[in-house]
Amino acid sequence: MVQLWRRATRSTSSFSGSVELVTTELIDGFGRVHHDLRISVTDRCNFRCTYCMPQEGMEWRAREEILTFEEIERLARIMVERYGVDSIRLTGGEPTVRARLPLLVEKLAALGVDLSMTTNGVSLPLLADELKRAGLKRLNISLDSFRADRFLELTRRDELQRTLAGIDAALEAGFDPVKINVVIMRGINDDEILDFAEFGREKGVIVRFIEFMPLDADEIWNNSLVVTQSEIVDILGAEYDLESVVRTSAPATRWRYADGKGEIGVVASVSESFCESCDRVRITADGQFRSCLFATEETDVRALLRDGSSDDVVAEALERTVAAKWAGHQINQVQFIRPRRSMSEIGG
Ligand code: SAM
Ligand code: SF4
Repeated sequence: MVQLWRRATRSTSSFSGSVELVTTELIDGFGRVHHDLRISVTDRCNFRCTYCMPQEGMEWRAREEILTFEEIERLARIMVERYGVDSIRLTGGEPTVRARLPLLVEKLAALGVDLSMTTNGVSLPLLADELKRAGLKRLNISLDSFRADRFLELTRRDELQRTLAGIDAALEAGFDPVKINVVIMRGINDDEILDFAEFGREKGVIVRFIEFMPLDADEIWNNSLVVTQSEIVDILGAEYDLESVVRTSAPATRWRYADGKGEIGVVASVSESFCESCDRVRITADGQFRSCLFATEETDVRALLRDGSSDDVVAEALERTVAAKWAGHQINQVQFIRPRRSMSEIGG
């Protein structure tokens, strides 16, 4: 049962001594309350997107370094039951390469949260039905080009057709909404913005354009490659009548088509950061708890999950990490420090 506890002060003792739990919200020093958890279930991937991973892949973590399903479930339960976390997204690496993923989905769905996943979509023709039956509610599928040669260049895999089939499989399985994540990069795929909009309108999927972030392992990112939200919306607005949609806590700024044929979103992490309304925390595949995608520090929760620490001790580590969350990343400013880990290692 999900419990939304009110703010209270509790003390308890544990294997590691006395612990002071001072809040029943995951709240930071700026008053932001955190309800959204991103769980990276694997650091591995079957693609090698240029804006994320190097051609040769990463140095994969050993199996014993990766959190087990039971550890993930315990951590998620603590966050749901103590702090009212009500939204969980599975990501990676590529989450579908983790063996027996539907089993994890079943365990997390039982917590009664809004359970979603971000995937490159290539395994969905095989997995979409099973994931739906296991309790997954929503899917974001990444696709950056409709051109086979460009798709191959971007992902280093010749899998455009299977990815498109994955989108169809998600729709046929009844996922609603299905969102398409498109990382737009100048001179690389920005000439396809209108093609994506048309695809979304015809298929009944929500396209979310994502600004390119400095989280690529090869460090090809530079500001001139970023196509900003305002540029994207100018291109779309010249073709379609768009109406702004009131912002929720979701990272995307949203617009709907005035003719009623759906909506689009833009994740403007670089040009118009939404840090002031961020309600998101993350756990990496190897059990490191992060309060921000761009955090330069993380908390080793895996160690606590494995050394006999009580739930109170784990909870206290979560609270401490969130309490120390910074105001926001500082991309575009001289003081910006690139995180040590890239997108696929953190879990995008
Ligand atoms: N493998 C899955 C996928 O690609 O959908 C899930 C993990 S991936 C890291 C999550 C999302 O991050 C994808 O939509 C991907 O396009 C996006 N992404 C990866 N690197 C990025 C970058 N440097 N800037 C912006 N988005 C990025
Ligand atoms: Fe893999 Fe997703 Fe990164 Fe592409 S963006 S390399 S699919 S983790």
